[in-house]
Amino acid sequence: MSARKILVTSALPYANGAIHLGHLVEYIQTDIWVRFQKLRGQECWYVCADDTHGTPIMLRAEQEGITPEALIARVHGEHLRDFTGFHIAFDNYYTTHSDETRFYSEDIYRKLKAAGLIEVRAIEQFYDPVKEMFLPDRFIKGECPKCGAKDQYGDSCEACGAAYAPTELKNPYSAVSGAQPVLKSSDHYFFKLSDPRCQQFLREWTRQGSLQPEAANKLAEWLGEEGEHRLTDWDISRDAPYFGFEIPDAPGKYFYVWLDAPIGYMGSFKNLCAKQGLDFDEYWKPDSQAELYHFIGKDILYFHALFWPAELKFAGYRTPTNVFAHGFLTVDGAKMSKSRGTFITAESYLKQGLNPEWLRYYFAAKLNGTMEDIDLNLEDFVARVNSDLVGKYINIASRAAGFITKRFGGKLLAMPLAEKFASVLPGLSEAAEEIAAHYEARDFARAMRKIMALADQVNQYVDLHKPWELAKQAGRDAELHEVSSILINAFRLLTIYLKPVLPKLAQRAEEFLNVAPLHWRDAAHLLPPAHAINAYEHLMTRIEMKQIEALLAANKESLAPGAVPPAPTSDPQSPQRHAERQQNSEYKLHNQITIDEFAKVDLRIARIVDAAHVEGAEKLIMLTLDLGPLGTRQVFAGIKSAYDPATLVGRLTVMVANLAPRKMKFGVSEGMVLAASDPEGKTAGLYLLSPDAGATPGMQVK
Ligand SMILES: [Zn+2]
Repeated sequence: MSARKILVTSALPYANGAIHLGHLVEYIQTDIWVRFQKLRGQECWYVCADDTHGTPIMLRAEQEGITPEALIARVHGEHLRDFTGFHIAFDNYYTTHSDETRFYSEDIYRKLKAAGLIEVRAIEQFYDPVKEMFLPDRFIKGECPKCGAKDQYGDSCEACGAAYAPTELKNPYSAVSGAQPVLKSSDHYFFKLSDPRCQQFLREWTRQGSLQPEAANKLAEWLGEEGEHRLTDWDISRDAPYFGFEIPDAPGKYFYVWLDAPIGYMGSFKNLCAKQGLDFDEYWKPDSQAELYHFIGKDILYFHALFWPAELKFAGYRTPTNVFAHGFLTVDGAKMSKSRGTFITAESYLKQGLNPEWLRYYFAAKLNGTMEDIDLNLEDFVARVNSDLVGKYINIASRAAGFITKRFGGKLLAMPLAEKFASVLPGLSEAAEEIAAHYEARDFARAMRKIMALADQVNQYVDLHKPWELAKQAGRDAELHEVSSILINAFRLLTIYLKPVLPKLAQRAEEFLNVAPLHWRDAAHLLPPAHAINAYEHLMTRIEMKQIEALLAANKESLAPGAVPPAPTSDPQSPQRHAERQQNSEYKLHNQITIDEFAKVDLRIARIVDAAHVEGAEKLIMLTLDLGPLGTRQVFAGIKSAYDPATLVGRLTVMVANLAPRKMKFGVSEGMVLAASDPEGKTAGLYLLSPDAGATPGMQVK
């Protein structure tokens, strides 16, 4: 079978901020998948680039007194340094501010225009008369039209969470100059996604069957029923002054993000083609046999699975083979927070001396190929890495290596071991295809579970034969040699299986094993008889909780509010995320449930009879709840950021009384109290529910 040709991308990080652990979920996920494909012998290319254009970049450069080009060059260096530090091995990490990207932006624009899919329309926007520029929503501030809070952004209120149009703000002012903005009309260029041809094509494209089920559902919802026309046209232009590519036939108009950032995938690949002698068209022509995959966050699904395929299709290029969306990262169950120190930058993680492969392994153990959010639970992180990697995997090599080196001249048993190996560790070699299938499906969590189950099996073999005891007994050298040789071979197989996740560790293991770089196919055989290994040096240290504490402290200290308004979030491609939010608010409802499903939740009125801080817990308050005839309960509630325990005692609230008790580090939590919070996290507040006067403890809520 000839090798598959595969082109893979991750979303382009915006050149206006540091890479943090939330970003790394995506780059680590993609890197593992790409490394796996390469180990399998596929011709796989991984390209990415900084997304460098836009008003925020222009203003920040101005503020720093440098050119935008100098700013994006510096940030490019920082991003690449951080990615390299986490062993993200791009084949090309480029910039959208390139001749290649400009070429394809103009090419696609001209072809879409020729196809009748570009339209010019006048729209009214806020304009800063002092700065002489149109203002993006995030650069307009004013009083919230709902709650009146001052200094709120043009798109949403951080105090009450309301979303609105900038024109609804009271007493608006420009965050750039402070001037009062005026409404001004200007011509904008639109891509007609609403065109029946686009809708028809996207219905077909989204029914291809290989999309993630959650993504397919979302897309079906966005597209609506057959005959419905839900898609709207997308604004693809911005007016000067702007840092970007000028639209060829429209002086003073620039391509907005949609018509240059994703085209950076093509620009980066074109640049790689020149370096590697690859044929660009072979990957991008409409009937290309090569595969094209985009790894993205779920927030930019609309864009990558609707706008982008339509744009490519009608410009005469191939469309993606698939789009792989992942969820967001939470830390200890909450949105990353600068005040809690959980907004952890890639740079700080590395500077604190934490091993990047710890995080790669932990993310792998959590990523299952769906759009679910993943949680970095810091205690679990420490426990799992120490237990799985150090306690199970590394332990196998460290148990056996010393005997081989000291007792047997560094050489494995001189007799073939295959049969014996298969009988004492059945399934270890044969697992290669099953594990490969999990990697291919991006169900890394399942792959890790399988690999750790195999490691458990090997450790049982260690415990059964106790090589350290064999070593003390006279006349048992042959047995010791065989057991140790089997263990070294087992370690080698597990190294192959873990190599996509732990590339540096695998490299060191290969040096220790004295073998050429391992490929997946090498799992089909063992080391040759009498193979000489090198002396063992410890391959990985344990994580200490105090290292995590230092990391959190470092990220609290580094909190430095900038003068430039922040992008809507620090997620990759924040402009897309921003626009996406208008179409796909986090305020959306959950799936419908039946009354019977709801009735399973036993909600009761509870009186808080005691509330106390929990030593060592950053977020928790321990509540003692009186449920009247139902007795008392102890509940740990994550409300410390919003409440002082003393103010809670005596008040009534609502609790889930039939929630299974949960063992936490600080004790058992016997239920849950209900509190409101903003799903988009724009307000930090938590609001405990209270019943009206007259309700008494134990009453049912329905
Ligand atoms: Zn408000």
